[in-house]
Amino acid sequence: MQDEKEDRFFSPPRSQEDLAVRPTTLDGFIGQEKVREKLHIYMQAAKGRGEPLDHALFYGPPGLGKTTLAGIVAHEMGGQLRTTTGPALERTGDLAAIVSNIESNDVLFIDEIHRLPAQVEEILYPAMEDFSLHIVVGKGPLAKTLCLSLPRFTLCGATTRLGLLTSPLRARFGIVEQLSHYTDRELALIVRRGSRAFGVEIMDEAANAIAGRSRGTPRVALRLLRRVRDVAAVRGTGAITAELADQAMDMLEIDPEGLDESDRRILRAIVDLFDGGPVGLSTIAAALSEDTQTIEDIYEPYLIQKGLLERTPRGRRVTAGGYAYIRKTDPGHMEEPK
Ligand code: ADP
Repeated sequence: MQDEKEDRFFSPPRSQEDLAVRPTTLDGFIGQEKVREKLHIYMQAAKGRGEPLDHALFYGPPGLGKTTLAGIVAHEMGGQLRTTTGPALERTGDLAAIVSNIESNDVLFIDEIHRLPAQVEEILYPAMEDFSLHIVVGKGPLAKTLCLSLPRFTLCGATTRLGLLTSPLRARFGIVEQLSHYTDRELALIVRRGSRAFGVEIMDEAANAIAGRSRGTPRVALRLLRRVRDVAAVRGTGAITAELADQAMDMLEIDPEGLDESDRRILRAIVDLFDGGPVGLSTIAAALSEDTQTIEDIYEPYLIQKGLLERTPRGRRVTAGGYAYIRKTDPGHMEEPK
């Protein structure tokens, strides 16, 4: 189960196929018009000055294209993308090892930058500001600080939690952009583009059906496309039709609203165990043996967006719409308390 979630939302998949599907230019990046327009201007201006792009921070829910944008910046600015994550940089030496290999115009991408340990964050400040690295070598009275000068690079940070970033770190990013959920039209374009990369033909209605169940998230759309492609390969005769797409969605237990069994479990748990709420997030997480962050980042925003769940000062509450949804999916289910 955890692996499935990881695949769906967190770990940037790194297969050849994934690389083929990831756009490498700003023109190939679908949606997020304003962010694209601004990045286009900033990159043109930086190129005109012969400088790397200013450090950029992208924030928003998982799977919306933060890693992809960092790759695009590297490609368009003529550098390499070097990827790491906040929790992977445990010691200052880990960061030193990465930045000492960096070249001019490279992009250092740090995913989950809000989880960077404090001591690593401190050595990142001068690296971002003056492109110099200060590392302490040795201990006690014999300790020495080494100063290395670095080539001018761009740091791209990504986070799902802007609020957890320390203000000194946030202040060092010249560009801070929020990515928001995609429209169904944009997701259908991403699905069609993905199927071209996978080498399968897809009918427009099938692309629309996948888009409508993708929770506004390209990563979810591409994951659904992969599963639909599997069903088409076994049961179909070539192109992905709407019927094959529907069959695959039924198999995955994803309803036309894009809700899956995990979403339904959350709603049912709040109704069955806590009278529909209000109930605290950590209590829900404990009842479902889930991680609070997974519920908060992945499931809850979509349930709230769909009007099935609400956040109150005393905790989460299933709405009348949520009750109606549960009754629809499970007609024998209990009535809404008066
Ligand atoms: P994040 O870093 O925000 O979690 P990613 O950049 O890893 O998200 O994107 C997830 C997947 O969705 C990737 O396979 C990427 O190719 C695809 N994707 C994301 N945004 C777009 C977009 N705007 N256009 C086309 N494909 C996209």
